[in-house]
Amino acid sequence: MKLILLGPPGAGKGTQAQRLRDRYGIVQISTGDMLRAEVAAGTPVGKEAKAVMEAGQLVSDDILIRMLGARIEQPDCAKGFILDGFPRTVPQAEALDALFAAKGMSLDAVVELKVDDAALVDRIAGRFTCAKCGTGYHDTFKMPAKSGVCDSCGGAEFSRRADDNRETVGARLEAYHKQTAPILPHYASQGNLKQVDGMADIDEVTKQLFALLG
Ligand code: ADP
Ligand code: ADP
Ligand code: ZN
Repeated sequence: MKLILLGPPGAGKGTQAQRLRDRYGIVQISTGDMLRAEVAAGTPVGKEAKAVMEAGQLVSDDILIRMLGARIEQPDCAKGFILDGFPRTVPQAEALDALFAAKGMSLDAVVELKVDDAALVDRIAGRFTCAKCGTGYHDTFKMPAKSGVCDSCGGAEFSRRADDNRETVGARLEAYHKQTAPILPHYASQGNLKQVDGMADIDEVTKQLFALLG
């Protein structure tokens, strides 16, 4: 199965992608996680991306298209994948079409998680993740069952993203509306765009996704 999860920052793409990964046995490809790993490792790509990400803007299409192209060549992608955070611009969507065509692959679904802007600020400001396994949490909406201990791996260290602050959210939402939302008609015209109410609680959204994807 090959899926794209679309939606603004904080919509729940990463949260739901982890659940889809577990249910369907396919890999989650988060371009945000890949970029953060490049920044942490201090690679040339990381050096170029760091300031752009901290400002809440989008990293160049060239970098992203190259990165994604190399990632889906990896053997673990053979069974399928969920794209979380890519494509984010019309050129990226077009490059992905070309990549799929060249490989004779097709998309099973493109799912848009619809969430009001007003809800996103709180989601982003309260987000944290397990430093060991990457499971996502939230100060209000999803605390670990036992305080300070990751539900998935038992880890006790958590991290917060440098760009998850109220100052940067505005720029990220603007980038979404200006640069990413225009790809929705692109997929609608291909006939495989589906929508899910991302305002519902986490388990309810998961239920809707499973019902949609079978
Ligand atoms: P994205 O990957 O789209 O940026 P995340 O999956 O990281 O979004 O979710 C953002 C934050 O909101 C996380 O802290 C997550 O735990 C929380 N969250 C995700 N989905 C929901 C939901 N349906 N209701 C409330 N909080 C949610
Ligand atoms: P969120 O889902 O909360 O917006 P991500 O982890 O997907 O965050 O992305 C974090 C940042 O990484 C983005 O704000 C952007 O700077 C960069 N980024 C991730 N994916 C892309 C992409 N496909 N194109 C351009 N920039 C990207
Ligand atoms: Zn963990």
